[in-house]
Amino acid sequence: MERSYLIKPILDAVYPTIDYGKGVYLYDKNQKDYIDGSSGAVTASIGHGVPEIIKAINDQANKVSFVYRSQFTSEPAERLAKKLSELTPGDLHWSFFVNSGSEATETAMKIAIQYWQEQGIFTKNKIISRFISYHGITLGALSMSGHVGRRERFIPLLEEFPSVSAPYCYRCPFKLTYPSCDLLCASELEKTIQRMGKQTIAAFIAEPIIGAAGGAIVPPEGYYQEIKEICERNDILFIADEVMTGIGRTGKMLAIEHWNVQPDIVALGKGMSAGYTPMAATIVSDRVMEPILQGSKVIMSGHTYSANPQSAAVSLAVLDYIEKLQLIDRGHMMGNYLLHKLATLANEFSFIGDVRGKGLLIGIEFVYDKEKKIPIKLATVVIQKAMEHGLLVYPSSAGEEGITGDAILISPPLVITKEEVDELVTRLKRALVEVEASLH
Ligand code: PLP
Repeated sequence: MERSYLIKPILDAVYPTIDYGKGVYLYDKNQKDYIDGSSGAVTASIGHGVPEIIKAINDQANKVSFVYRSQFTSEPAERLAKKLSELTPGDLHWSFFVNSGSEATETAMKIAIQYWQEQGIFTKNKIISRFISYHGITLGALSMSGHVGRRERFIPLLEEFPSVSAPYCYRCPFKLTYPSCDLLCASELEKTIQRMGKQTIAAFIAEPIIGAAGGAIVPPEGYYQEIKEICERNDILFIADEVMTGIGRTGKMLAIEHWNVQPDIVALGKGMSAGYTPMAATIVSDRVMEPILQGSKVIMSGHTYSANPQSAAVSLAVLDYIEKLQLIDRGHMMGNYLLHKLATLANEFSFIGDVRGKGLLIGIEFVYDKEKKIPIKLATVVIQKAMEHGLLVYPSSAGEEGITGDAILISPPLVITKEEVDELVTRLKRALVEVEASLH
């Protein structure tokens, strides 16, 4: 291979060169096929090469691709904001468009702090998050993230935001069992607010199902209801980071809808444009917008490409496609089918400790032995072996041993068929058999 000057995540890694994609399959330059079992980074949720999206890209490019948001609004951006206000629950009526999930959570953080400032309260400027979490790579987003591996190099630059335990029943941080635990992980939030002083806390941020840092950790019933009550009792906003879980990934438009809890601010990304263009959004409720509209009327965030008509048109086409093919219901059904198959597969391997998730966001956590649940670092080798067998899966861990186990995410496009799920599991099994052999 020719020398590469491309800066890659791991500089000396040799990746296959991609040629094209169709549906759930990707093909490299050697015509090897891969099932996109992770939708890239849980992004390509409607599959690759969808003609309707390609047409929308062309149609908008033929009109206008870029206008600056402080000079013009555009029909696609206005229509996208209206559509999101209809698709999201309650009074989440206002969209602020950005280009990545990190920008969406960082904007959410800034808007939460501004909400209190507009009411004359300048002390509420900390955000509480959870030890096992990932909210993005920029410094504000990283300050809210628990992902040790991604934080450690920059710790001196990060805000010292407080953290609380994650609702991680497989490895309960309190060594308790649900429901007799009385949801201590939720009440820890209230204790932390009291310890810090509620006059210092602007918001609590959580991924409804913990993705990149935890391998699809689903909280127990009642957790989010209690979290929401604690936030309300203590005048704290609740930010749902739906960058990974939003737009149908878990079988609902927003994952937080599984628990009927209303967030004050939502961060979206990834599935919003399904990988066809960079696009993300911070969705803000009427309640939060009100003092801003009556006050400064300015949100001091935004980027050159925010709300560009090209990305807005693509995102609209993606949302239309999801609606037309009823992909959220379909993803829910296929997710149940895949979860069941993976749970069965787990019985065949001593190093699979847990299989969990909702919809098409499924985590597999690895252990030395099932009884003792001792974590084992296996994600990298499983990912490598799966790739050799033509299957893409995604790494997931908090980046420090002992906080979580090592896990992978399986999150294929919502368009996956039953036959393709079967093929995905067949390829995964081939990879796991080789991993098992390498352990002896
Ligand atoms: N929030 C969550 C929950 C994520 O999973 C991610 C990315 O994986 C982000 C934020 C950051 O998104 P991006 O990589 O688009 O900046």
